[in-house]
Amino acid sequence: KIRVRYAPSPTGHLHIGNARTALFNYLFARHNKGTLVLRIEDTDTARNVEGGAESQIENLHWLGIDWDEGPDVGGDFGPYKQSERKPIYQKYIDQLLEEGKAYYSFETEEELEAQREEQRAMGIAPHYIYEYEGMTADEIKQAQDEARAKGLKPVVRIHIPEGVTYEWDDIVKGHLSFDSDTIGGDFVIQKRDGMPTYNFAVVIDDHLMEISHVLRGDDHISNTPKQLCVYQALGWEPPVFGHMTLIINSATGKKLSKRDESVLQFIEQYRDLGFLPEAMFNFITLLGWSPVGESEIFSKREFIKQFDPARLSKSPAAFDQKKLDWVNNQYMKKADRDELLDLALHNLQEAGLVEANPAPGKMEWVRQLVNMYANQMSYTKQIVDLSKIFFTEAEYLTDEEVEEIKKDEARPAIEEFKKQLDKLDNFTAKKIMGAIMATRKETGIKGRKLFMPIRIATTRSMVGPGIGEAMELMGKETVMKHLDLTLK
Ligand code: GLU
Repeated sequence: KIRVRYAPSPTGHLHIGNARTALFNYLFARHNKGTLVLRIEDTDTARNVEGGAESQIENLHWLGIDWDEGPDVGGDFGPYKQSERKPIYQKYIDQLLEEGKAYYSFETEEELEAQREEQRAMGIAPHYIYEYEGMTADEIKQAQDEARAKGLKPVVRIHIPEGVTYEWDDIVKGHLSFDSDTIGGDFVIQKRDGMPTYNFAVVIDDHLMEISHVLRGDDHISNTPKQLCVYQALGWEPPVFGHMTLIINSATGKKLSKRDESVLQFIEQYRDLGFLPEAMFNFITLLGWSPVGESEIFSKREFIKQFDPARLSKSPAAFDQKKLDWVNNQYMKKADRDELLDLALHNLQEAGLVEANPAPGKMEWVRQLVNMYANQMSYTKQIVDLSKIFFTEAEYLTDEEVEEIKKDEARPAIEEFKKQLDKLDNFTAKKIMGAIMATRKETGIKGRKLFMPIRIATTRSMVGPGIGEAMELMGKETVMKHLDLTLK
């Protein structure tokens, strides 16, 4: 039975890399008709942020990921928040202490740091040295009693056996093995505040929640030997591990780091720009996983059907925002127009261009505006820039635009076009295009020499969407006003 989990720490917004981990676990679970568990790893109280778990859940749902067990949906293996599982961890801490596989360690942070400092000075990798080396059980007990009497609080460390090799067949990376002496010494499994450490809690939870496969980022590879050590100490069978390749910023070639500001890395940022969840889902799934064949656009259903972890890539995945723009544009072309309208309306309102509760007539106008630009946009927020000519008074022309309308044939073309427009009762794109054709017939001016001056004179811009549609949306009054302004 396949049981996988996504286990975020509620330390901030949903990052692209974490979203990918969630997605791959989701696809793996759904492909195998298995179970996806959401577990909140909130034992590092200093790093937790208020509302962090809720925001993760909200953004995962937005992406189209759902789970079968978790803090919000329940399940037979709860609680699903580590902070609510303290008594469970305590039980296993006590067991390991009793069996002599773990021990209380009273060295202070300052002492430990001094030790590491010394090791660095000697040119060796900082590691913990067993503080009771060569002491008898009685001596150890005495030392610990004295420390307690001084009011010192201990951590609990696990004994790492010497000369052991921790190895596993990683779904992504192949066979990996680590010597026990590269782990850095007996590590902490319970902190001074009584909270378990990540490497301990994760083992207890994965075991008790009967997780069959652990798919996570390869920044966790160095944690895996530690976790295997805990599995061994407790006599438990570890799950299958798969460590997904890191993501690099294709623009810089460097590992995508949260500090890199050249690229947007949080799901929420893309939501604000009006990206579509299905497009994000598609794009993220292709970060480090490739389907059979050449196609790059897949529905969630198709991804679930195809998802095979054997096709997780071994080389870094390149995060390319331009590709994401392209993928989103593909989805926008197929998207429900009402959905685009909602998103674009929100963007326009945020930019202060459209009022909060537009009248039905205005709504219809916005709908046409959005339709006009839908195919050109990579994401809906672009409408704010694209549609500027509809929201500004457009008094001024750029030097280049002035040049254009000063050209010999510009003025006669504009004058004739104005006459033709004057005759129109129905100010529709079709009629307006007809007026342009009539202008051509009357003046003999054609092509760019005809269209460019008309475009500039009417929309007061050299660039824009289809000229007929644009004028229709501007309305006759504004267009005539612009023409007068140009001919003045
Ligand atoms: N809470 C860990 C993280 O956010 C999860 C690691 C794991 O999947 O074991 O990175």
